[in-house]
Amino acid sequence: MKICILWFRNNLRLSDNWPVVEAYTNYDLVIPLFIDEGSQHNQKWAKGPRGKYREAFLIDSLIDLNKGLMAYDSELIVLREKDAVQTIRTLAIEIGAIAIIGPKEFAFNEVKQETTLEHWGKLKGIKINFYNEKTLFLQNDLPFALDEIPMVFSRFRGKVEKYSSVRLPIGEADISPFEPSDFNMRGISLIKPEIYKDDRSAVPFKGGYLSAWEELDYYFWESKKILEYKQTRNGLLGRGFSSKFSPFLSLGCLSARQIKSELNRFEDEIESNDSTYWLFFELLWREYFQWIALKHGKDLFVAHGLKPEKPIKQGFNERAFEKWTSGNTGDKLVDSNMKELAQTGFMSNRGRQNVASYLIHDMGLDWRAGAAYFEQHLIDYDPASNYGNWLYNAGRGNDPRPFRKFNTKIQAERYDPKGEFVNTWT
Ligand SMILES: Cc1cc2nc3c(=O)[nH]c(=O)nc-3n(C[C@H](O)[C@H](O)[C@H](O)COP(=O)(O)OP(=O)(O)OC[C@H]3O[C@@H](n4cnc5c(N)ncnc54)[C@H](O)[C@@H]3O)c2cc1C
Repeated sequence: MKICILWFRNNLRLSDNWPVVEAYTNYDLVIPLFIDEGSQHNQKWAKGPRGKYREAFLIDSLIDLNKGLMAYDSELIVLREKDAVQTIRTLAIEIGAIAIIGPKEFAFNEVKQETTLEHWGKLKGIKINFYNEKTLFLQNDLPFALDEIPMVFSRFRGKVEKYSSVRLPIGEADISPFEPSDFNMRGISLIKPEIYKDDRSAVPFKGGYLSAWEELDYYFWESKKILEYKQTRNGLLGRGFSSKFSPFLSLGCLSARQIKSELNRFEDEIESNDSTYWLFFELLWREYFQWIALKHGKDLFVAHGLKPEKPIKQGFNERAFEKWTSGNTGDKLVDSNMKELAQTGFMSNRGRQNVASYLIHDMGLDWRAGAAYFEQHLIDYDPASNYGNWLYNAGRGNDPRPFRKFNTKIQAERYDPKGEFVNTWT
């Protein structure tokens, strides 16, 4: 019997999922596995475990995926182990797996896991394959080699729009049964932390691929709020000012290709306007940061970022940082956004830009401390988008402007003129 371990990472869905299709098409017995390595954020700055909203979103997503598998008499094994690669190696030997299949990731640590496993697989004669299910384009679809990905987003966008086509999503795999007790296997129980459902939350939904499709239906087909996205996307308050697809994209409950395909359908059947295009434009930002992460590897996470030639002036002050994280800086826009993050696990894009600028340029603190705190708490945490955006705001990434400072007072007047957002969260 040909046994394969199907390693789920940030691809917690069953449809449009190349690794899932490959595993179920080519092997007799597929063991679906997820390994929770716990908090990975830098404890030097952001102390403590993963934020409870982020944790809850992950658990919801795993429960949903497991339900999907159980409908086919299979089951997701969830383990909590510090070293996923070591765990998989041991398991593969124990159960006699001849292949390990998983999704391709783009950030340094995850890519390192892939190369370590591939190297080991070669020595042991175990087939290791990682398939890209995350991005709109595959690497070969890009009109440049990886090391030639432009340093400026507009050049990337211009070229891919002209020369590359977004891949179409693929359907669901033909999932075969798996009974864990046959292998004496047992995963951990999925226990969701107690979270307070805040009525003020911009993300009043739970994780999982079923919720992801409900949100997509709501934003596109039910409310049709997508038709005004370009005008509302800088909003701060409420559910519909932007799509809120990011938490689902980050854990892979929904793929970028699925969103693009639904967007095309919406444009064909209902309407195509500047706003529908703009959602695609934003997905290209996400796309860009993934390829930038793959291209630059470790540099995304070090103080100098992508600009080693630029002197480093930032320092760190624990008390000042604590004021920022707890929403007690005295700047109302910054404080209300930080409170929203702590109480929901989410913050708007406008909010993120302001609090990041404040930490870096007003408080003079190390950008990596802010990035680590975001990593700990955001329900949509994604290494490429998070560190890419922090570097961008710190002037150490892909921003052609050398200094990107926001005046939070002017920003509040422009984006929260009646003080509704600030009053909601203070
Ligand atoms: C300092 C900072 C940190 C960030 N950290 C993350 C992160 O960890 N994870 C994350 O997904 N996004 C991150 N972003 C990007 C952006 O703020 C969120 O993607 C967006 O707010 C999510 O809300 P939405 O899904 O409603 O976005 P929408 O406005 O509806 O956009 C649709 C989709 O486009 C993508 N997108 C939009 N803007 C960006 C952007 N600037 N960078 C990358 N992708 C984008 C997202 O996938 C998003 O879901 C960060 C931005 C900043 C300034």
